[in-house]
Amino acid sequence: MNCREFDPRLHAFVDGELDAGPMADAEAHVSTCPGCHGRADGERRLRQLLRRQPRETAPAEFRARILALARRERTRKQVRAWLGTPALAAAVLLLAFMLIARSLSTGGHESEIVASLVDKHLAYAQLEGPAEFASTERPAVAAWFRQRTGLRVPVPDLSPAGIQLVGARIAEADQHRVAYLLYEKGHVLMSVFMVPEVGRRAALAGRSMSFRGQEYLAQERQGLRTVSWRDGQTLFSLVSTLDYEALLECAEQLRAERAREARL
Ligand SMILES: [Zn+2]
Repeated sequence: MNCREFDPRLHAFVDGELDAGPMADAEAHVSTCPGCHGRADGERRLRQLLRRQPRETAPAEFRARILALARRERTRKQVRAWLGTPALAAAVLLLAFMLIARSLSTGGHESEIVASLVDKHLAYAQLEGPAEFASTERPAVAAWFRQRTGLRVPVPDLSPAGIQLVGARIAEADQHRVAYLLYEKGHVLMSVFMVPEVGRRAALAGRSMSFRGQEYLAQERQGLRTVSWRDGQTLFSLVSTLDYEALLECAEQLRAERAREARL
Protein backbone atom coordinates (compact mmCIF):
# COMPACT_ATOMS: atom_id res chain seq x y z
CA MET A 1 0.00 0.00 0.00
CA ASN A 2 1.29 3.48 -0.84
CA CYS A 3 0.27 6.91 0.48
CA ARG A 4 -2.38 7.42 -2.17
CA GLU A 5 -3.97 4.07 -1.42
CA PHE A 6 -3.75 4.64 2.30
CA ASP A 7 -5.35 8.06 2.19
CA PRO A 8 -9.00 7.08 1.57
CA ARG A 9 -8.65 4.38 4.25
CA LEU A 10 -7.25 6.67 6.94
CA HIS A 11 -10.47 7.11 8.94
CA ALA A 12 -11.48 3.45 8.68
CA PHE A 13 -7.95 2.48 9.68
CA VAL A 14 -7.98 4.68 12.78
CA ASP A 15 -11.44 3.40 13.68
CA GLY A 16 -10.35 -0.22 13.22
CA GLU A 17 -12.99 -0.76 10.57
CA LEU A 18 -10.83 -2.25 7.82
CA ASP A 19 -10.95 -5.94 6.97
CA ALA A 20 -7.99 -8.04 8.09
CA GLY A 21 -6.09 -7.91 4.78
CA PRO A 22 -6.32 -4.17 4.15
CA MET A 23 -5.72 -3.56 7.87
CA ALA A 24 -2.44 -5.45 7.75
CA ASP A 25 -1.45 -3.59 4.58
CA ALA A 26 -2.30 -0.26 6.17
CA GLU A 27 -0.38 -1.10 9.33
CA ALA A 28 2.63 -2.09 7.26
CA HIS A 29 2.47 1.20 5.37
CA VAL A 30 2.04 3.34 8.49
CA SER A 31 4.99 1.66 10.17
CA THR A 32 7.28 2.74 7.33
CA CYS A 33 5.76 6.10 6.33
CA PRO A 34 6.27 8.99 8.77
CA GLY A 35 3.72 11.18 6.94
CA CYS A 36 0.83 8.71 7.17
CA HIS A 37 1.93 7.67 10.64
CA GLY A 38 1.64 11.31 11.73
CA ARG A 39 -1.78 11.71 10.18
CA ALA A 40 -3.07 8.52 11.80
CA ASP A 41 -1.72 9.69 15.16
CA GLY A 42 -3.37 13.08 14.73
CA GLU A 43 -6.73 11.48 13.96
CA ARG A 44 -6.40 9.19 16.98
CA ARG A 45 -5.68 12.09 19.31
CA LEU A 46 -8.61 14.01 17.89
CA ARG A 47 -10.89 11.05 18.58
CA GLN A 48 -9.58 10.79 22.14
CA LEU A 49 -10.35 14.45 22.69
CA LEU A 50 -13.83 14.00 21.31
CA ARG A 51 -14.53 11.05 23.61
CA ARG A 52 -13.63 12.69 26.91
CA GLN A 53 -16.20 14.16 29.20
CA PRO A 54 -16.23 17.74 30.47
CA ARG A 55 -15.55 18.52 34.13
CA GLU A 56 -16.13 22.23 33.94
CA THR A 57 -16.32 24.90 31.32
CA ALA A 58 -13.78 27.64 30.80
CA PRO A 59 -14.87 31.24 31.30
CA ALA A 60 -15.14 32.98 27.93
CA GLU A 61 -12.46 35.53 28.68
CA PHE A 62 -9.90 32.96 29.77
CA ARG A 63 -10.72 30.94 26.70
CA ALA A 64 -10.20 33.88 24.37
CA ARG A 65 -6.88 34.71 25.97
CA ILE A 66 -5.60 31.16 25.76
CA LEU A 67 -6.65 30.86 22.15
CA ALA A 68 -4.94 34.15 21.26
CA LEU A 69 -1.81 33.09 23.11
CA ALA A 70 -1.82 29.70 21.47
CA ARG A 71 -2.01 31.22 18.02
CA ARG A 72 0.84 33.61 18.73
CA GLU A 73 2.94 30.73 19.96
CA ARG A 74 2.00 28.69 16.98
CA THR A 75 3.24 31.27 14.53
CA ARG A 76 6.59 31.22 16.31
CA LYS A 77 6.58 27.49 15.65
CA GLN A 78 7.66 26.65 19.17
CA VAL A 79 4.77 24.81 20.70
CA ARG A 80 4.24 21.25 19.70
CA ALA A 81 0.78 21.40 21.17
CA TRP A 82 -0.07 17.76 20.60
CA LEU A 83 3.23 16.53 21.89
CA GLY A 84 2.65 18.72 24.89
CA THR A 85 5.90 20.00 26.31
CA PRO A 86 5.20 23.46 27.78
CA ALA A 87 2.49 24.29 30.27
CA LEU A 88 0.70 26.36 27.67
CA ALA A 89 0.27 23.36 25.43
CA ALA A 90 -1.28 21.44 28.30
CA ALA A 91 -3.65 24.30 29.00
CA VAL A 92 -4.65 24.51 25.35
CA LEU A 93 -5.17 20.79 25.15
CA LEU A 94 -7.32 20.79 28.27
CA LEU A 95 -9.29 23.71 26.94
CA ALA A 96 -9.78 22.02 23.59
CA PHE A 97 -11.25 18.93 25.17
CA MET A 98 -13.46 20.96 27.48
CA LEU A 99 -14.84 22.90 24.53
CA ILE A 100 -15.32 19.84 22.39
CA ALA A 101 -16.80 17.72 25.15
CA ARG A 102 -19.18 20.49 26.09
CA SER A 103 -20.51 20.72 22.57
CA LEU A 104 -20.82 16.95 22.32
CA SER A 105 -23.12 16.93 25.31
CA THR A 106 -25.50 19.17 23.36
CA GLY A 107 -25.88 16.56 20.65
CA GLY A 108 -23.99 14.91 17.81
CA HIS A 109 -26.89 13.98 15.59
CA GLU A 110 -26.71 14.39 11.85
CA SER A 111 -28.94 17.44 12.05
CA GLU A 112 -26.18 18.91 14.19
CA ILE A 113 -23.57 18.69 11.48
CA VAL A 114 -22.70 22.35 11.91
CA ALA A 115 -21.90 21.61 15.56
CA SER A 116 -19.38 18.99 14.57
CA LEU A 117 -17.86 21.38 12.03
CA VAL A 118 -17.44 23.95 14.82
CA ASP A 119 -15.68 21.25 16.86
CA LYS A 120 -13.35 20.63 13.95
CA HIS A 121 -12.58 24.32 13.70
CA LEU A 122 -11.77 24.49 17.42
CA ALA A 123 -9.70 21.34 17.40
CA TYR A 124 -7.66 22.28 14.34
CA ALA A 125 -7.17 25.84 15.58
CA GLN A 126 -5.07 24.30 18.37
CA LEU A 127 -2.70 22.58 15.99
CA GLU A 128 0.65 24.07 15.20
CA GLY A 129 0.01 23.41 11.53
CA PRO A 130 -3.76 23.25 11.07
CA ALA A 131 -3.39 22.73 7.32
CA GLU A 132 -2.63 19.20 6.13
CA PHE A 133 -1.61 20.75 2.85
CA ALA A 134 -0.19 24.21 3.53
CA SER A 135 -0.27 26.55 0.56
CA THR A 136 -1.29 30.10 -0.22
CA GLU A 137 -1.71 29.19 -3.91
CA ARG A 138 -5.35 28.66 -4.86
CA PRO A 139 -4.70 26.48 -7.94
CA ALA A 140 -2.34 24.26 -5.92
CA VAL A 141 -4.97 23.75 -3.21
CA ALA A 142 -7.70 23.01 -5.76
CA ALA A 143 -5.38 20.52 -7.49
CA TRP A 144 -4.58 18.85 -4.15
CA PHE A 145 -8.28 18.24 -3.48
CA ARG A 146 -8.84 16.93 -6.99
CA GLN A 147 -5.96 14.51 -6.67
CA ARG A 148 -6.80 13.34 -3.17
CA THR A 149 -10.59 13.16 -3.32
CA GLY A 150 -11.65 13.68 -6.92
CA LEU A 151 -13.65 16.65 -5.67
CA ARG A 152 -13.80 20.00 -7.37
CA VAL A 153 -13.48 22.38 -4.49
CA PRO A 154 -13.96 26.08 -5.18
CA VAL A 155 -11.08 28.02 -3.63
CA PRO A 156 -12.11 31.67 -3.64
CA ASP A 157 -9.71 34.61 -3.62
CA LEU A 158 -10.55 36.48 -0.42
CA SER A 159 -7.40 38.59 -0.35
CA PRO A 160 -9.27 41.81 -1.28
CA ALA A 161 -10.95 41.43 2.13
CA GLY A 162 -7.56 40.89 3.79
CA ILE A 163 -8.26 37.17 4.24
CA GLN A 164 -5.40 34.91 3.17
CA LEU A 165 -5.45 31.26 2.19
CA VAL A 166 -3.48 29.07 4.61
CA GLY A 167 -4.11 25.60 3.23
CA ALA A 168 -6.43 22.64 3.23
CA ARG A 169 -7.39 19.45 5.01
CA ILE A 170 -9.58 16.46 4.41
CA ALA A 171 -11.69 15.81 7.47
CA GLU A 172 -14.69 13.77 8.48
CA ALA A 173 -17.86 14.86 10.24
CA ASP A 174 -20.87 12.68 10.97
CA GLN A 175 -19.52 10.06 8.55
CA HIS A 176 -19.28 12.59 5.76
CA ARG A 177 -16.03 13.30 4.07
CA VAL A 178 -15.39 17.00 4.36
CA ALA A 179 -13.22 19.28 2.25
CA TYR A 180 -11.79 21.87 4.57
CA LEU A 181 -10.18 25.17 3.52
CA LEU A 182 -8.35 27.31 6.02
CA TYR A 183 -8.04 31.05 5.74
CA GLU A 184 -6.61 33.61 8.09
CA LYS A 185 -7.32 37.25 8.70
CA GLY A 186 -4.49 38.52 10.85
CA HIS A 187 -4.47 35.92 13.60
CA VAL A 188 -8.13 34.99 13.19
CA LEU A 189 -8.70 31.63 11.57
CA MET A 190 -11.64 31.10 9.25
CA SER A 191 -12.69 27.59 8.29
CA VAL A 192 -14.56 26.84 5.09
CA PHE A 193 -16.17 23.40 5.10
CA MET A 194 -17.62 21.73 2.06
CA VAL A 195 -19.61 18.55 2.69
CA PRO A 196 -20.54 16.84 -0.58
CA GLU A 197 -23.67 14.72 -0.90
CA VAL A 198 -24.87 15.62 2.51
CA GLY A 199 -28.39 14.40 1.70
CA ARG A 200 -31.72 15.80 2.72
CA ARG A 201 -31.61 14.30 6.20
CA ALA A 202 -29.08 16.80 7.45
CA ALA A 203 -31.56 19.49 8.38
CA LEU A 204 -29.84 22.76 9.03
CA ALA A 205 -30.71 24.86 12.01
CA GLY A 206 -30.12 28.56 12.49
CA ARG A 207 -31.40 32.02 11.81
CA SER A 208 -32.23 32.93 8.23
CA MET A 209 -30.13 35.69 6.73
CA SER A 210 -30.47 37.26 3.32
CA PHE A 211 -27.44 38.63 1.56
CA ARG A 212 -27.49 39.93 -2.02
CA GLY A 213 -30.48 37.82 -2.89
CA GLN A 214 -29.15 34.58 -1.35
CA GLU A 215 -30.41 32.84 1.76
CA TYR A 216 -28.07 31.68 4.52
CA LEU A 217 -28.43 30.17 7.96
CA ALA A 218 -26.49 31.72 10.81
CA GLN A 219 -25.71 30.18 14.17
CA GLU A 220 -23.50 31.11 17.09
CA ARG A 221 -21.77 28.23 18.77
CA GLN A 222 -19.08 28.32 21.41
CA GLY A 223 -18.26 31.95 20.75
CA LEU A 224 -17.95 31.33 17.01
CA ARG A 225 -20.16 32.49 14.18
CA THR A 226 -21.26 30.14 11.44
CA VAL A 227 -22.86 30.82 8.08
CA SER A 228 -24.16 27.78 6.20
CA TRP A 229 -26.03 27.07 3.02
CA ARG A 230 -26.82 24.27 0.63
CA ASP A 231 -25.91 24.27 -3.00
CA GLY A 232 -27.54 21.24 -4.61
CA GLN A 233 -26.40 18.20 -2.60
CA THR A 234 -23.47 20.06 -1.09
CA LEU A 235 -23.40 21.81 2.25
CA PHE A 236 -21.12 24.79 2.78
CA SER A 237 -20.32 26.19 6.17
CA LEU A 238 -18.04 29.02 7.29
CA VAL A 239 -16.82 29.11 10.89
CA SER A 240 -14.91 31.96 12.52
CA THR A 241 -14.96 34.73 15.09
CA LEU A 242 -15.15 37.15 12.16
CA ASP A 243 -18.36 39.18 12.04
CA TYR A 244 -21.35 38.17 9.91
CA GLU A 245 -20.73 40.83 7.32
CA ALA A 246 -17.29 39.41 6.60
CA LEU A 247 -18.58 35.82 6.59
CA LEU A 248 -21.44 36.63 4.22
CA GLU A 249 -19.03 38.43 1.91
CA CYS A 250 -16.83 35.31 1.88
CA ALA A 251 -19.88 33.12 1.22
CA GLU A 252 -20.74 35.30 -1.76
CA GLN A 253 -17.19 34.98 -3.14
CA LEU A 254 -17.32 31.22 -2.70
CA ARG A 255 -20.59 31.01 -4.61
CA ALA A 256 -19.14 33.13 -7.39
CA GLU A 257 -16.04 30.94 -7.58
CA ARG A 258 -18.17 27.80 -7.72
CA ALA A 259 -20.31 29.27 -10.51
CA ARG A 260 -17.18 30.30 -12.40
CA GLU A 261 -15.75 26.77 -12.10
CA ALA A 262 -19.01 25.21 -13.28
CA ARG A 263 -18.74 27.24 -16.48
CA LEU A 264 -15.23 25.99 -17.26
ZN1 LIG B 1 2.30 7.21 3.42
